[in-house]
Amino acid sequence: MTADFETQLRAVSLRVTQPRLAVLAALRDHPHVDTDTVIALVRADLPTVSHQAVYDVLRALTTSRLVRRIQPAGATARYELRVRDNHHHVVCRSCGAIADVDCAVGHAPCLTASDDHGFVIDEAEVVYWGTCPDCVTRSEGI
Ligand SMILES: [Zn+2]
Ligand SMILES: [Zn+2]
Repeated sequence: MTADFETQLRAVSLRVTQPRLAVLAALRDHPHVDTDTVIALVRADLPTVSHQAVYDVLRALTTSRLVRRIQPAGATARYELRVRDNHHHVVCRSCGAIADVDCAVGHAPCLTASDDHGFVIDEAEVVYWGTCPDCVTRSEGI
């Protein structure tokens, strides 16, 4: 799996470094985590990596599109490895839990905007808002 990450980094002309591999591994095991969580996960393996280094790694990986950054309204940015498949997210209004939702209609049809206003569209992002099962259970218990 680490070999995969090395191949992916080289494919986008990024040098293979321990912090980059550690961030990719953290996101593989923990999708949709925020920056603070990534820092904590990386430092569990590499205690000497600075906050700034993790910020820089996340920016480089996001810019090269190995990592997708999502930012639901009012929430902190989250990161994940699932890229380029145009999947969507469901977000809990109460606790901020996030889950993946495959594209609703099949193969990236959400890219077909009803009116593209002349833009060249390469991504569609849908956020479904609601209440997660845990929060529903908790509120029913009150
Ligand atoms: Zn919830
Ligand atoms: Zn996702």
